[in-house]
Amino acid sequence: LGTEILWTAIRAALVISPTIAVPFTLYMQLQSRRLAISNEKLVVLNEQLAAERSAAEQLARLDCMTGLLSRTHFVKSVTEHLDSAESEGALLMLDADRFKSVNDTFGHDAGDRVVQTIAELMKNTSPKQSIAGRLGGEEFALFLTHTEVDSMEQVAEALRQAVENTSFKSADGDDFNVTVSVGAALTSEAETAEGLLKAADLRLYAAKHRGRNQVVTPNDPLDKLQKRLSAA
Ligand code: GH3
Ligand code: MG
Ligand code: MG
Repeated sequence: LGTEILWTAIRAALVISPTIAVPFTLYMQLQSRRLAISNEKLVVLNEQLAAERSAAEQLARLDCMTGLLSRTHFVKSVTEHLDSAESEGALLMLDADRFKSVNDTFGHDAGDRVVQTIAELMKNTSPKQSIAGRLGGEEFALFLTHTEVDSMEQVAEALRQAVENTSFKSADGDDFNVTVSVGAALTSEAETAEGLLKAADLRLYAAKHRGRNQVVTPNDPLDKLQKRLSAA
């Protein structure tokens, strides 16, 4: 840059008087130094912007109340897994039982704490590589990678019991308990994440229908979906 400016000064001095050429050159030099500093600042700002954007994207992936994946990103993560995995996986769908009456009896804040606690129990009870999401409201899903039907049943049952054995307190100091119903499906039963959610949802519906606070898996002798699949 220095040589370039020197040549500019010499060239300028050839056509204009040195009294103008010298200050002009000094001015050019100052401007180019300012430009270099601005460029450096721009690089730093760009890096900050990229870091902030990625933090915001990460935040949008997560449900802000529980820190679990939002429904869209849960489906996206499970889809990515289905596309790449060779081993069997399983999906559990959980729904808090009679949650409307929990809110009505113990208050909305207590209800919020229940939602957060179920999410914590899902994180703590599930195997390491599981994908946990909040589908919406008091409904959750857990995708278990590399899972056979028996271990799927164990995880689901452990989760159901963990919720049942947790006590909550209302703002008035009343103790209460909450239960969840769980429906499960294996990746061999559906081709897409949405298909898997549908299969698990049918079993969740069966669990609700049979009295709630229970797990329904493909192992279930009364399972209609399994019967339909094996008849086809
Ligand atoms: P079921 O056993 O059939 O699932 O009955 P339910 O009462 O749980 O089901 P319903 O769909 O009738 O009501 C769900 C209730 O959950 C209604 C809604 O106000 C409450 N709910 C959903 N999300 C939240 C939340 O984030 N916080 C609180 N406090 N309540 C919630
Ligand atoms: Mg419910
Ligand atoms: Mg529900």
